[in-house]
Amino acid sequence: MKESQFYYIATYGCQMNVHESEKLAGILTTRGYLPTDDQSKADIIVFNTCCVREGAEQKIIGNIGAVKPLKRQNKNLIVAVCGCMTQQSKMANYLREKFPFINIIFGANNVEFFGKYLDTYLQQKKFQNDVIIDQDYIENENSVEMVRDSTLHAFVNIMYGCNNFCTYCIVPYVKGREISRDAQAVLDEVRQLVQMNYKVITLLGQNVNSYHSTLNGNPVDFADLMQLVCDMNGDFELRFMSSHPKDLTSKVIDTIARNPKISKYIHLPVQSGSNAVLKRMNRNYTREKYLCLIDEIKTKIPNVVLTTDIIVGFPGETQQDFDDTIDLLKTVEYANAFIFMYSKRKGTPAEKMPNQIPIEIKRERIHALLALEHEISNRVFEAMKGTQQRVLVEDENNQEYLAKVQCGKVVKIPKGVKNLSVGEFADVLITKYSNGDLIAE
Ligand code: SAH
Ligand code: SF4
Repeated sequence: MKESQFYYIATYGCQMNVHESEKLAGILTTRGYLPTDDQSKADIIVFNTCCVREGAEQKIIGNIGAVKPLKRQNKNLIVAVCGCMTQQSKMANYLREKFPFINIIFGANNVEFFGKYLDTYLQQKKFQNDVIIDQDYIENENSVEMVRDSTLHAFVNIMYGCNNFCTYCIVPYVKGREISRDAQAVLDEVRQLVQMNYKVITLLGQNVNSYHSTLNGNPVDFADLMQLVCDMNGDFELRFMSSHPKDLTSKVIDTIARNPKISKYIHLPVQSGSNAVLKRMNRNYTREKYLCLIDEIKTKIPNVVLTTDIIVGFPGETQQDFDDTIDLLKTVEYANAFIFMYSKRKGTPAEKMPNQIPIEIKRERIHALLALEHEISNRVFEAMKGTQQRVLVEDENNQEYLAKVQCGKVVKIPKGVKNLSVGEFADVLITKYSNGDLIAE
């Protein structure tokens, strides 16, 4: 038997999933496993899955299938599958039948119990299966020792689940109802991270704007929570993800504007620029209300960087609806837009809607929008030339420091003028935008 045991975790989907994988890594580390980037060296492979779009699911199914030869070579290899795909019992059963070599399957909401499943499997060598939408899991958030991916960036969950039921989206069905984590627990975790010298703290939730908890008997909303974090001593930046426009209040915008520690970067998914589509999506805001919010943000936070999510080809989307999205994109000028083709999800209301859009039209629309956004994004970053930006130095090579502005765009700072170190914030002057990177002094 070899001396060390290795784990490999394949993570798919959103940042919340990336964070869940940090818990999986922690659980494996506590049991003596070491990380490896090489699947073929692993003694345990965990697939932490995403089911938001069919494309992602198909890719994951392919990747799980590709493990079969490894399992043949190494009979002791343990294969575990968890996350949003397996939270749906039909999918969990399908995977179990299609890939009988899977040893452990569990859902999105019981990552904290992975250690228990693994220990039981190792003792009994019997398939472990546990898929529950269990809201008690929050109590366990603090009980898992995480192995964080980065020494500079840290994610902190502030809520779980979602109540919004956008008609295209499967998240509320797999993640369960929305629950906010206790404010004191959030603040304790952030304080500890700041003391450990983490530089960027990102508060995570499907809709952080609807966060609500109490502290010493007083109500704490999302703006209050951000203010409490900003009041902590330390040189760090605060970010958050994701914001639902329907719940983004002036109080939140004012809190961002007032606090130098809060990133001047807002990801505000719009999904569509057409009122008819927004209504059928159950987004609960209109194009006008969204644009009003953008105006307020731009007025109060003049140097703000905005990004968004957009779905093209939602059932019934007409050329006029799509033109409205184009127009909205041109008006807002996002630094980046994550654009997706609508993907039918079983059990969601949009699945049954009439006038599903043919794939060719979806493709045409996504290409048109991507090309437009590419142009807009270039303009946004070109316009940063001559501006002062606060960046975090994240890496270096012989010639330059590699830093990032708040929205994640790389800034190259040539060496030789000033000595910087990785993990340091620096105020730099952007001098150029070339080949997709910003250059600074
Ligand atoms: N809670 C977050 C995002 C969740 S999913 C929010 O509301 O902002 C991330 C993105 O995936 C969504 O913003 C949406 O643009 C996209 N998405 C979700 N379901 C989809 C589907 N069925 N087809 C295509 N894109 C989808
Ligand atoms: Fe899905 Fe809408 Fe909830 Fe975001 S807010 S997770 S898009 S249902």
